[in-house]
Amino acid sequence: MTTVTMDKIVSLAKRRGFVYPSSEIYGGINACWDYGPLGVRLKNNVKRAWWRAMTQMRDDVEGLDAAILMHPRVWEASGHVENFTDPLVDCKVCKGRFRADQLDMVPCPDKPSKHPGEHHCELTEPRQFNMMFKTFMGPVEESANVIYMRPETAQGIYVNFHNVMTSSRQKVPFGIAQIGKAFRNEITPGNFIFRTREFEQMEMQFFVHPDESEKWFEHWKEQRSAWYDTIGIRKEKLRFHQHAEGELAHYAKAAFDIEYEFPFGWQELEGIHNRGDFDLGRHQEYSKKKLEYFDEVTRERYIPYIIETSAGCDRTLLTALIDAYREDVQAGEERDYLAFHPSLAPIKAAIFPLVKKEGMPEIAQKLTAELRSRFEVFYDEKGSIGKRYRRMDEVGTPFCVTIDTETLSNDSVTVRVRDTLEQERVNLSELRGFLEARIG
Ligand code: ATP
Repeated sequence: MTTVTMDKIVSLAKRRGFVYPSSEIYGGINACWDYGPLGVRLKNNVKRAWWRAMTQMRDDVEGLDAAILMHPRVWEASGHVENFTDPLVDCKVCKGRFRADQLDMVPCPDKPSKHPGEHHCELTEPRQFNMMFKTFMGPVEESANVIYMRPETAQGIYVNFHNVMTSSRQKVPFGIAQIGKAFRNEITPGNFIFRTREFEQMEMQFFVHPDESEKWFEHWKEQRSAWYDTIGIRKEKLRFHQHAEGELAHYAKAAFDIEYEFPFGWQELEGIHNRGDFDLGRHQEYSKKKLEYFDEVTRERYIPYIIETSAGCDRTLLTALIDAYREDVQAGEERDYLAFHPSLAPIKAAIFPLVKKEGMPEIAQKLTAELRSRFEVFYDEKGSIGKRYRRMDEVGTPFCVTIDTETLSNDSVTVRVRDTLEQERVNLSELRGFLEARIG
């Protein structure tokens, strides 16, 4: 029976080079994190899986990589200058600042077993706090030069709707996908990489005829739910939350969250929204550029509705770590391991010589060099074979390949499977195919 706690995940992530506190030698900076050697591989694998499903496997979605800094009018048109706010409360006693709608998610600084408002706190009335980071464009720091760090990637897609459509010769319905950094000056970031001020989003905006928006909304709900299965997230840990009328954002016609059961409760992993014609309509109004679509078959001219799928890359990575975490006892020894889906595993196979003699290291190094162009592999000859297995289990390597005495006589190797601990003998000439069939 495994009990996953955030402490275990944070400590494993640090120890094994997935995630470190940012600027740690200076004492760290609140809610900023750096991805280490295995973390960056895991993150790239999450992005690759998403990009593949959203663009490579479809001919109706194009990719985009828009700039982080955009014209300031974009954020007026989008409603962010006016509405991208969270309710902020101050505590007059401890001087802490909290998000009024999330008091139950943070500890009281003076009494961590309670939440703000439950101790000797004196909370102010909530006031609206805009979460966009501001900076200045050019050398003069004056209000005319204020620009914003984008708080979402979606706007880069809307303003490029016509560019992408004409250059790629797409017709409605079609979509644009983008992965990129977003910045939000969150009042209460926390829970490790769950809520940070700098994060990455994986967003897709699908442009449709208004009469077809409900159909496409259903389509994307299904597609996005199914995607988590393809990267190995357990179905029973996912649920869907339909926003009720009062919960909907000002632009949304319908919204649906995919939630995961984190150690700190059920929380949003991804949002799927029917945004109606709000975005293109507003950008048309503010930019004075026509953003309508003309259907050559029906001779109809209209502003497309948008179905958005908006996932957090860091949050998906956190989900993958938590979901894969397992503890068991093997031969009287406790083991913790990450049962990553092979597509996410930062190392797909480890190659070990059983001992550092009899030519085994040479065979193992040659094999590593051969497999390297196809998979992320790792060569290790240090320590007992049991220790080497444990080190690989802990970072979620699905297969360990050992060159042993039998290899010298018949060219076969031992392949040990992380989750079942089964060992199979595979001929060296068939090893690549064996791994390809299981890793993809
Ligand atoms: P919340 O209500 O939790 O602040 P939101 O509804 O504003 O989130 P969206 O604007 O829909 O979130 O963002 C889409 C996705 O981007 C979220 O589902 C989440 O995965 C990710 N995301 C949003 N804010 C953050 C953040 N501060 N840190 C990490 N990921 C985030």
